[in-house]
Amino acid sequence: MKKIRKKQRSVLLILVVSCIVLISDIVLIGINYYASQQALNHSLMQRAQGHMEGVELALGMTKRNMLQLATHFSGNKKLNLLFLEGKKAVAAEGSASPKAAEIRKKILSDVKSSWDEMTSKFDVRQLHYHLGPGSLSFLRVHKPHKFGDRMDDVRYTIVDTNAELKARTGFETGRVYSGIRGVVPIFVTDPETEKKVHVGALEVGTSYTKLLMLVSKAQGTGSAILLTKAHAERNMWPNSIKERFGDILQTCGCFIESSSRPLAETKEMISMAKNLALGSSIRKMEIIEKDGRFFTLYQEPLRDYRGESNVDLPVAGSTIIWDDVTLEVNKFNQDFQLNILYGILGFFIIEIVLFFAMRVERKIYEVGTLAGLDGLTGIPNRRDFDEVWLKEISRARRYNQPLSVVMCDVDYFKLFNDSYGHVRGDECLRKVASALSGSLHRSTDYVARYGGEEFVYILPNTTVEQAEKITEKARLAIIALAMEHKESSVSSVVTMSFGIASMVVIEPEEVKLIRIADECLYKAKAKGRNCAVSKQI
Ligand code: GH3
Ligand code: MG
Ligand code: MG
Repeated sequence: MKKIRKKQRSVLLILVVSCIVLISDIVLIGINYYASQQALNHSLMQRAQGHMEGVELALGMTKRNMLQLATHFSGNKKLNLLFLEGKKAVAAEGSASPKAAEIRKKILSDVKSSWDEMTSKFDVRQLHYHLGPGSLSFLRVHKPHKFGDRMDDVRYTIVDTNAELKARTGFETGRVYSGIRGVVPIFVTDPETEKKVHVGALEVGTSYTKLLMLVSKAQGTGSAILLTKAHAERNMWPNSIKERFGDILQTCGCFIESSSRPLAETKEMISMAKNLALGSSIRKMEIIEKDGRFFTLYQEPLRDYRGESNVDLPVAGSTIIWDDVTLEVNKFNQDFQLNILYGILGFFIIEIVLFFAMRVERKIYEVGTLAGLDGLTGIPNRRDFDEVWLKEISRARRYNQPLSVVMCDVDYFKLFNDSYGHVRGDECLRKVASALSGSLHRSTDYVARYGGEEFVYILPNTTVEQAEKITEKARLAIIALAMEHKESSVSSVVTMSFGIASMVVIEPEEVKLIRIADECLYKAKAKGRNCAVSKQI
């Protein structure tokens, strides 16, 4: 019975420890997963931002190139004089006058070869003569039949250049195109007055496309410039929007201004984004999956010339960069699977160790039992008692000495267990055993656990009077333990009852002595417990 309970407790302990190990294992795997994912996201974000820096560097170079070309053109005296003539014609007869048209024709024919070179070799898309102040279009070399429109509230690079007479550069959306532009003021000496006068501004522009293609090729990424619907509609002529972009892209509510990759691929990438924050001023990155491959889709708000100096203005759109990160994500997934495997392995190793520890503990317990010791209290067990009893009987007989045996039993121990639990019950038995052993002084006196909450003394060469004294000491020692027992009707603390049996002459049927001690014990119980009853034979 005792052994079974001990076994059950070990199994319970193993179950509790296993549960704790399992929960810790799962929590550790979870923490590890979260930390690794954060680290992966961080490194992918840094990589994407590195790519973005590449785009920005190329943008800076392109702005300088546009400014260089515009500066070069601004030094052409012949063209500048024609531009001045044009300005005078517009002032006198209006933009659509035959005189102005003739001057446009002359400028067009003079710049034709340079324009062809610029478009084919340097990807230039705009060459535009604007009259100041503000911006009155005089000649769009890239769209000669469109002129005479004012762009005072659209083309701030021109307005600022004409106002401050200083070169300006930046990304800006015009009536026809968006572009990266370099704008310089045009001055010339008026032949009529011999004075240097400011005529207007000359602008050279290109699209993002070439820039994106070069950078993306070097980085192995894809990239695109998206414009918000509001931005395009605020700046461009409606028919320019139609001609340039066709219909709006429904998945993002945006227009693809430029892309380093074919339009179909760009559209597909954009449509896969789950959380495109187009038009917002936040930098974002998300991981998307396409045909078993993983991509980061990074976006950064796109600010135009005016938005760069005033962050309160709405953003023009987004620069987006997509990057194949299949290797990194697969590595992360593999690491995570390995982590789970290690977790499972670790769990089983701990389980095996626990299992063997339990077996070793049981073996130790069994060895202790075989050695005659009680596993719970550490005092001799019933098996040992039986051997010692036989020896003491024959010794008493041989030397014709008196012999006493005392049976003792904890009062209301069942109630104690019921109200304080088995663990406290065991602890009580351990204390009782040690108090009983402590109350013996002769080296020949002996105490054993008889079973359950019953103990037995063998007191060789001890008369009934002496045995009564020893028993009384033991009874008081138990009370002195002061172990609370609120359910006991005898006392508020744990008490014991005792049955003493003594023989002066040892009879052959010595076993009777134990039976008599047991009967005395029952009498003590019947008497009200916490007392001793003795009998001399
Ligand atoms: P009485 O005063 O008449 O002796 O009443 P009692 O409740 O002590 O006697 P009973 O024989 O009804 O109950 C003995 C209890 O001792 C029942 C059993 O569960 C408990 N017991 C026996 N061995 C152990 C043990 O090793 N540990 C614990 N905690 N309890 C034990
Ligand atoms: Mg009992
Ligand atoms: Mg009892």
